[in-house]
Amino acid sequence: MTEDLLEDAIVRFEEALPHAELSEDACDRLRAPVSSLKVSVPVRMDDGKLRIFSGYRVRYDDTRGPAKGGIRYHPAVTAAEVTTLAFWMTFKTALMDLPFGGGKGGVAVDPKQLSASELERLSRGYLAAIADVIGPNVDVPAPDVATGELVMGWMAHEYAKIRRGHHPGVVTGKPLALGGVPGRTSATSDGALHVLRTVQPRVLPGVDHPSAAIQGFGNAGSQLAAGLASSGWRGIAVSDSSAAIHDPKGLDIPALREHKTSTGSLADPPVGEEIGAEELLCLEVDALIPAALEGAIHAGNAEKVRARVVFEVANGPLTADADRILDEAGVEVVPDILVNAGGVTVSWFEWVANRTGDRWTEEAVRRRLEERMVTETKAVLALADERELRLRTAAYVHAIERLSEAMDAKGTAALFGDGDR
Ligand code: GLU
Repeated sequence: MTEDLLEDAIVRFEEALPHAELSEDACDRLRAPVSSLKVSVPVRMDDGKLRIFSGYRVRYDDTRGPAKGGIRYHPAVTAAEVTTLAFWMTFKTALMDLPFGGGKGGVAVDPKQLSASELERLSRGYLAAIADVIGPNVDVPAPDVATGELVMGWMAHEYAKIRRGHHPGVVTGKPLALGGVPGRTSATSDGALHVLRTVQPRVLPGVDHPSAAIQGFGNAGSQLAAGLASSGWRGIAVSDSSAAIHDPKGLDIPALREHKTSTGSLADPPVGEEIGAEELLCLEVDALIPAALEGAIHAGNAEKVRARVVFEVANGPLTADADRILDEAGVEVVPDILVNAGGVTVSWFEWVANRTGDRWTEEAVRRRLEERMVTETKAVLALADERELRLRTAAYVHAIERLSEAMDAKGTAALFGDGDR
């Protein structure tokens, strides 16, 4: 992604500012990250050669609590991308009223090219390289694209070795055996389903069995496809980085999930017809659900979108230009910082459990996730109606007002940091 990514993200923040109360000083503070670290991670590969990987950790803001956000493994990871993702986390955690700020990390790597032991050495090496800037009270990583509980388990263990003591709250999304909570792996899609159900009467009134096209069949996308199918939706198209599959009558999602699990991709699908990746974005559907990477819908293809509503499960799948084009075309957009906030919300439960030494049941996780998602979705809808705003702007206004309150409560000194850096 380009250096413009952060600028493009800041456009949405700027659009919300006239509708929210935030001091000029605080606005300026939020236009740049608190701190950014770039590290080089040397990894001994299985063939004996040494490879050096670039890694990043950005603490964008920590006004409301420790920075919080995932770690991404992808060949296209850059400092600009990680900074932008950390920027979005800042507003996501405020929107959900979690006691966190925003952070993000990443390593420029194609994890599919690494053996399991190379991946473990990279994960431990990266964690060791960022160990000085993270911690349960300062910055708490979690999974993101291509990292999951296995990687988080290695990282938590590496941190314990470095600090010579147990600090399970240093990362979330860990395996259950290492202090994870039940329901974290399905949290993003579960949260998205709660948002969908809450906004559906408003964005798709009177549609009993809505159709959906889903771009991205990773953790969030594939679980959401399954969740939608069992809630009476028709998933008519899905895609991953190797194939896009379409069936206007509705795809057999369990068969595709099984195919993806056994072969590692959607290529040569057992059901449906293969279509072009861009074609999926232009299908006539009730809902288009980008659940892959940022910038999927942009000025070059937004005019071809024929969906009634876009649900952003990925972080930042629409550029600011695409937002404008879709708005003019009357396509409603339900924003990422709300739709995909289920993951970080359950991370909060895990962090709380780790710090109190308690265990949370799956029932408690599910109940509290639903409460958080439905409450904040309703708050965004009410704000949008009250102030006549697009849903994205309303979500930002809601988040900015929470940030603003915390900044005001700390006073001007807050602009100069909390003393832990
Ligand atoms: N990577 C997820 C996100 O973008 C989860 C972050 C977390 O749990 O801290 O929201």
